Amino acid sequence: MFSQQRIALFQNHPTPFYVYDLGLLEKTLAAMNAASSQYNYHVHYALKANSNREILDRILKSGMGADCVSGNEIKRALESGFTPDQIVFAGVGKNDTEIRFAIANDIFCFNCESLPELEVIAQFARDANKTARVALRINPNVHANTHHYITTGLEENKFGINIHELPEVIEAMKQYPQLELIGLHFHIGSQITDLNVFRSLCTRVNEIQEWFASRRIILKHINVGGGLGVDYHDVENNLVPDFKTYFEIFAKFLEVRQGQQIHFELGRSIVGQCGTLISRVLYVKKGVQTNFAILDAGMTELIRPALYQAYHKIENLTPSPGATDLRYDVVGPVCESSDCFGKALDLPEVKRGDLIAIRTAGAYGEVMASGYNLREREETMYLPL
Ligand SMILES: *Cc1c(COP(=O)(O)O)cnc(C)c1O
Repeated sequence: MFSQQRIALFQNHPTPFYVYDLGLLEKTLAAMNAASSQYNYHVHYALKANSNREILDRILKSGMGADCVSGNEIKRALESGFTPDQIVFAGVGKNDTEIRFAIANDIFCFNCESLPELEVIAQFARDANKTARVALRINPNVHANTHHYITTGLEENKFGINIHELPEVIEAMKQYPQLELIGLHFHIGSQITDLNVFRSLCTRVNEIQEWFASRRIILKHINVGGGLGVDYHDVENNLVPDFKTYFEIFAKFLEVRQGQQIHFELGRSIVGQCGTLISRVLYVKKGVQTNFAILDAGMTELIRPALYQAYHKIENLTPSPGATDLRYDVVGPVCESSDCFGKALDLPEVKRGDLIAIRTAGAYGEVMASGYNLREREETMYLPL
């Protein structure tokens, strides 16, 4: 819950808006660093979770690298002060401009997702008279036990190179002296809360490494991606994710070969809890089964509930003293029935003008906002330490 002082700050701000708790972000970064540095792991921040400049500034200062999935994210990372040798670039559909831009800037590594992509990178590297470092993004066929829209490591998904294609890829790579194969990359999905999934990933990576070793192919870098989940339900008790247990799993189950560096790409677990969407209640409307609390924020500000049926904790920050709980569907103003933040929620009685907090909105929130219905969002607020 926010302090009365903070709620008073929110009262004086036009809604809807995002608020970021930079103190919590710093705490999260410190916990992540403490846990990963024990094993000398290299951790990159996945910009797609939140590319807000204030946030990137804190993340840069914490020493993380940058994981980008578009040319503009690479541009944003460079503008924010990340150096090219800290930048990795993934994505199934890198376009020509993006690839040329990344080559021109000598980024650390392309995480390549197909043979045709390798061919294009080789061609553009030749044009630029450069060598491009590449890692093969392999689809390990490991089930992430998460929502099917954010599962990425199954053979049916569009991501990565399937294991049975590897002989062909390795053979083809011989024609491309402009490509330097420096490692392997994996990313099996997002919001993973069942940590056994990461253990399965380790087992699969070990097998795949064995395959490469038997062909005397040396891989300096192993990148196991991101995906560590956050607690959308018990927010207050889990503001900082359990990075210690997460990294311990890799330390225990991933076989590291001599001279190898292990890389991670975390997004949600770094920024998820530090962001909240604040809105006001416009109307309380009686329905047949339930009441509707109609907010001035909608799927245009936070699309996760509409897109993935995602749960976000909702709080009434300004209930009247002694208010009792009533049941509400909390909805947005957008002309779509999917524009709903939660159904049949019990909240202290809601009235017009109440401030509503939608928690754990720091990741895949503001970055996925749209201008649908020509809607606008008010200026973002930052809470300092
Ligand atoms: C999205 C993404 C990540 C980050 O995922 P989180 O679940 O936010 O940690 C990491 N690597 C790649 C390649 C991604 O696409």
